[in-house]
Amino acid sequence: MELYRLGIDEARTALDKGEISPVDLTKAVLDRIEAVDEKVRSYVTVAGERALRQAADAEILLKEGKKQTLLGIPLAIKDNICTKGVKTTCSSKILENFVPPYESTVTKRLNDQGYILTGKTNLDEFAMGSSTENSAFGLTKNPWDFERIPGGSSGGSAAAVAADECMAALGSDTGGSIRQPAAFCGVVGLKPTYGRVPRYGLVAFASSLDQIGPLTKNVKDSAVLMNIISGHDIYDSTSADVPVPDFTSLLGQDIKGMKIGVPAEYFIEGVDSEVQASVKEAIQKMESLGAVPVEISLPHTEYATATYYILATSEASSNLARYDGVKYGLRVEGDDLIDMYMKTREAGFGAEVKRRIILGTYSLSSGYYDAYYKKAQQARTLIVQDFEKAFESVDVIVTPTTPTPAFRAGEKTDDPLQMYLSDIFTISVNLAGAPAISVPCGYTSNNLPVGLQIIGKHFDEASVLKTAYAFEQATEWHKRKPEL
Ligand code: GLN
Repeated sequence: MELYRLGIDEARTALDKGEISPVDLTKAVLDRIEAVDEKVRSYVTVAGERALRQAADAEILLKEGKKQTLLGIPLAIKDNICTKGVKTTCSSKILENFVPPYESTVTKRLNDQGYILTGKTNLDEFAMGSSTENSAFGLTKNPWDFERIPGGSSGGSAAAVAADECMAALGSDTGGSIRQPAAFCGVVGLKPTYGRVPRYGLVAFASSLDQIGPLTKNVKDSAVLMNIISGHDIYDSTSADVPVPDFTSLLGQDIKGMKIGVPAEYFIEGVDSEVQASVKEAIQKMESLGAVPVEISLPHTEYATATYYILATSEASSNLARYDGVKYGLRVEGDDLIDMYMKTREAGFGAEVKRRIILGTYSLSSGYYDAYYKKAQQARTLIVQDFEKAFESVDVIVTPTTPTPAFRAGEKTDDPLQMYLSDIFTISVNLAGAPAISVPCGYTSNNLPVGLQIIGKHFDEASVLKTAYAFEQATEWHKRKPEL
């Protein structure tokens, strides 16, 4: 058995039966990283020695009969999630040597379940991007085609899962950053409801949109990780104090009679024909499983991209003010305090981050605020209402995750607007705060994965996972692997 191929649930079973050991499993994954990461470049930091120490500890605990869901299981974490004692760079020069003195809530919860940290995965700097090309530390490649990008901003996490360089990973999603790379790399990615998973220790990009979620090899593993990372946290006032169901409990239930909304605005000209065909076939598959497709409308979809890129940049301009060379991170000395600020930020931030700080500062400026920021907030309310209305008559909504399969590296780097437009199908969901998953639903003629997005009502990840699982179990798409 190639141990690195395992997912969380399979590994758990084999570990508990004593068929494999945490050390063997961790070594297999580290060897895999050694063998393929030179090509894929998923990781910014590989925590090899630390992982082996953790594995040795896990081995003892397991022998002593300790029961923890992730005991001995190697997972990767996106490099904008703070891990105490392990560098967390956000793929930015400004945090190149930042070692967090505290643990994020999500990784603390994983620790409490005994996970092993393989390392920190690459992203677009501060999670701003759709291709991982905005990383200060090099390109991650799409494991299905090295000429192409893995998506972004959690491109490192998605590529690591696809290339079997970890059993699963965490990412973050502000406008699609879990679901879009999951779609491009042929893995499962879930963005939880806003407030479901605590953001404490997630380096802030746009605080009213950011959510942490799992990238996994299958839907069951997604539910397993959601059970661990979800739930209220006193350190995050936006985390919701609502009950967390057992997300695995609905898996395997049939979807007969479920109403699945199909929004007209997501099946339009400009969407790649092979993507459309795969998604339509997926909807037929769900129908054959007893689900009932219902045509719906999300009429304000066309305003989502503009709304998002005003709100997200506004929030970013405020959040990134903290990188001033004083408290932590890079410092470039200057003639006086202001000069030091300017030199530090000039040297520390990449072009896209600067672009967003400028855009956001502009939208928030006196005289422009009403025309941009306030207007965008009003548009956001209309988008929220679109979803509320749609969910009066359906249980979940299905769409393509992305309008095209993974694009070529360099294809959109000179044209930020084209890059922004590629997020069109994921962004509304963040604005609405709803949960959504991307699951593999086909391959194009040149063997690139296509993703199906399933969107749910607020805090109804359970229906999203149930629907995704039913679809996954009725298809073979999740079993395909890239040849490396
Ligand atoms: N691609 C979007 C952006 O550039 C979303 C990024 C994200 O979700 N972090 O902002």
